[in-house]
Amino acid sequence: MSWSNYHQHCYYCDGTNKPDDYVQTALANGIRSFGFSSHAPIPLDVKWCIKPEKFDNYLAEIKAIQQKYAEVLPIYIGMEIDFLPGLIGPNSPQFKVLDYHIGSVHFAAQFEDGEYWGIDDTRKMYERGINEIFEGSVQKAVEAYYATTRNLIENDTPQVLGHMDKIKMNNGDSIYFSEKARWYQTAVLQTLETIAATNTIVEVNTRGVYKKKTAYPYPSPWILKHLLDMDIPIMLNSDAHHPREVTGHFETTAELLVDIGFKEVQVHTRHGWQARPFTKKGIQF
Ligand SMILES: [Zn+2]
Ligand SMILES: [Zn+2]
Repeated sequence: MSWSNYHQHCYYCDGTNKPDDYVQTALANGIRSFGFSSHAPIPLDVKWCIKPEKFDNYLAEIKAIQQKYAEVLPIYIGMEIDFLPGLIGPNSPQFKVLDYHIGSVHFAAQFEDGEYWGIDDTRKMYERGINEIFEGSVQKAVEAYYATTRNLIENDTPQVLGHMDKIKMNNGDSIYFSEKARWYQTAVLQTLETIAATNTIVEVNTRGVYKKKTAYPYPSPWILKHLLDMDIPIMLNSDAHHPREVTGHFETTAELLVDIGFKEVQVHTRHGWQARPFTKKGIQF
């Protein structure tokens, strides 16, 4: 089995361990191309992002790891960058030093006092946003999430789109909405059309599955089928916050992807993102 993974959170943000521990697990589990993607510093008071004063330390430590393992594993310096329209996004100038980035929407709207509504916060916060910002309309809240995602894709086009349907994280077994609802499918399909007009790669993210929050990866199988039909490139990531999560649910997800019909995934090389053949046994480098 050979894999890649470009979505790792270490102790610089909300991950648990030092970067070296993740590399050790990666090597022991067949990872052949690897990247760190701590939450980029943002101008909000949140505890899960790199502190602005640690930005340079992060770059230096990952660079040192890159050199330490240069003979055995290509390691790339990335970040998972939030999109706050008018404030910050994946293409903000301070992120040009990175080898790559993942653009993710964790905030879809603001409360009356300006506080941002985190869509993958607690269920209590999820409901508070729906009730206070969208007058109790789940549909309006979810549509706002996808509208923000389209805004990101169109106006701050990321190399990689993180967990594109993370709005389902708190949805359990359709607690708030059904993915079969016409309005939901319309919002998703409209977003896919926007993605298809760019070079953005959609990540298949297994975190919801191994954290037992979702039955399927982000995005759901029916969305994956559309991605394939629309020729939108994908990659497989685990969004690890602990070394043991580095290849979390990769084998079952590879089976799912191959059964849907995917034959290749994107990996990072010295020449940027490139497609590689992909089977149930992983990636052929
Ligand atoms: Zn994220
Ligand atoms: Zn992440």
